[in-house]
Amino acid sequence: MTAAIYSARADLSPLVFEGPGPGGQLTVSHEVENYPGLEQPLSGMELMDRFRKQAERFGTRFDLGVVEHVSKGNDIFKVHAGNKIVETRALIIATGAEARHLPIPSEKKFYGKGVSGCATCDGFFYKDKKVIVVGGGNAAMQDAVFLTRFASKVTVVHRREYLRADPIEVQKAKRNSKIEWMIPWIVEEILGNDLVTGARLKNTESGKTFQLECEGIFVAIGHEPKTEVFKDVVETDEKGFILVRPGCTRTSTDGVFACGDVCDREYKQAVVAAGQGCMAAMEVERYLGIKE
Ligand code: NAP
Repeated sequence: MTAAIYSARADLSPLVFEGPGPGGQLTVSHEVENYPGLEQPLSGMELMDRFRKQAERFGTRFDLGVVEHVSKGNDIFKVHAGNKIVETRALIIATGAEARHLPIPSEKKFYGKGVSGCATCDGFFYKDKKVIVVGGGNAAMQDAVFLTRFASKVTVVHRREYLRADPIEVQKAKRNSKIEWMIPWIVEEILGNDLVTGARLKNTESGKTFQLECEGIFVAIGHEPKTEVFKDVVETDEKGFILVRPGCTRTSTDGVFACGDVCDREYKQAVVAAGQGCMAAMEVERYLGIKE
């Protein structure tokens, strides 16, 4: 959205393909309080809506299409989305990342039947029920605290003693009396018939197993970059993150720029993505100017 705001204001006539999840990851963040300028917390959905309206005000065009393929001719890229092909001289990839899954078949089996990747979306269904949150990052801590609004008990299951989350998020969770901790444990199997009834946990140090009753399992174990459809046009690292040249958003291919979580191995913050979006738009402007 920041790339769109800047490129629209620079009269570059941007077209944004919004893809299968318009607004991206931030839309499932129930409360954002560290984005500069937000004196009071705001929902991620509301924040993305504001960005979108701002981009629209300067003439950004939006398309709900899902990009399936990008091909490169001389100085022109062809973006294929459904039965539409759009030609462009410059491309900014800001497709972000998608939720990682637990490496056990029962996670897939129970997805939507007690297993969820989105506490904001599904928390409401777990009123007075027991739930598990898997993970030790900021998302897991925030999900655990959020779920205490509904659930009778929230157990955080994390695979090692050290919690990756920021101390402030850990403190908020530790202060909450509805949250219990299973550390260092992993979810070895999700149990149930049609719906989740519990999980078999395994201690990563002793190997001991334990069966925990619960009706919901919220998986918050990070994200993978969404770069599959761009593999033919840009280089990625071994984990799929798009490689950008140091200090800028230029990729291995002239005319293609990348910003945000799709190329960010380190910070993964909305404000960093916004900053990189601004850089990408300014670099596109320079690139098109040089080519004129
Ligand atoms: P994350 O920081 O990458 O944390 C993922 C967690 O899941 C880690 O604790 C990891 O364990 C665990 N994990 C990964 N694979 C696993 C597996 N197969 N089985 C069990 N556990 C597994 O991801 P995140 O919490 O989604 O956050 C992503 C980024 O967004 C971070 O930079 C975070 O700071 C940011 N964020 C910020 C806010 C905010 O308001 N400031 C809110 C949410 C997210 P290990 O620690 O052992 O690797």
